[in-house]
Amino acid sequence: MSDYSKLRKRMVQRQIADRGVRSEIVLDAMRKVPRERFLPGGDGIFAYDDSPLPIGQGQTISQPYIVAYMVEALDLEGGEKVLEIGTGSGYAAAVLAEIAGEVYTIERIEGLATKASDVLKELGYDNVHVRHSDGTLGWPEQAPFDGIVVTAAAPDLPDALKQQLKIGGHLVIPVGESKWYQALVRVTRVAESEFETEDLLPVRFVPLIGEEGWGSTF
Ligand code: SAM
Repeated sequence: MSDYSKLRKRMVQRQIADRGVRSEIVLDAMRKVPRERFLPGGDGIFAYDDSPLPIGQGQTISQPYIVAYMVEALDLEGGEKVLEIGTGSGYAAAVLAEIAGEVYTIERIEGLATKASDVLKELGYDNVHVRHSDGTLGWPEQAPFDGIVVTAAAPDLPDALKQQLKIGGHLVIPVGESKWYQALVRVTRVAESEFETEDLLPVRFVPLIGEEGWGSTF
């Protein structure tokens, strides 16, 4: 077993399972994805730290626990069609791809989208589709989705994303007026025009910048 697999196994136990993530399919996915491959060259030694880490362009790869928590909140069983907004390094997309049938992921910074797409291809994640655009508008040609996860913080719930959810599907998204903290929220589409919202956890994310997010001057 390589040093990284030992670190990964320990990370899943101590940082994720011991903190209450119970879904076996999520824990298994987290045990499989090599987080070190999604970090800028040389930073792999920090890959299993209990924190977010810089990935360039002022952006971060989220803390492993938060990735696992958000994926668990989608309540996937396997084989679904999922949309992620905020590809970043591509790490969370890989975790989703271990569970879902197809993963569509959107990143607004072109350099990050290209890099993530390359790593995902190298690792054989053929079920991940990366697009460079404004994710606040979703991916209408591929909608509806069983689940949508947003990995940057919005001032409000983007309506386009709610409309691209299947009935019964969940949208997991950090929402809040503050740059420093937000609430992680789960929205469930219970009927065509009926949505239920639950507050899950206080979080801190980089801003979701776009038409239905913060303006580009944020
Ligand atoms: N999921 C990522 C990972 O596993 O590395 C972490 C994402 S990082 C916390 C948030 C990302 O959201 C950043 O890369 C940022 O550029 C992106 N972002 C912000 N606004 C966006 C938008 N409107 N559409 C798509 N991506 C956006």
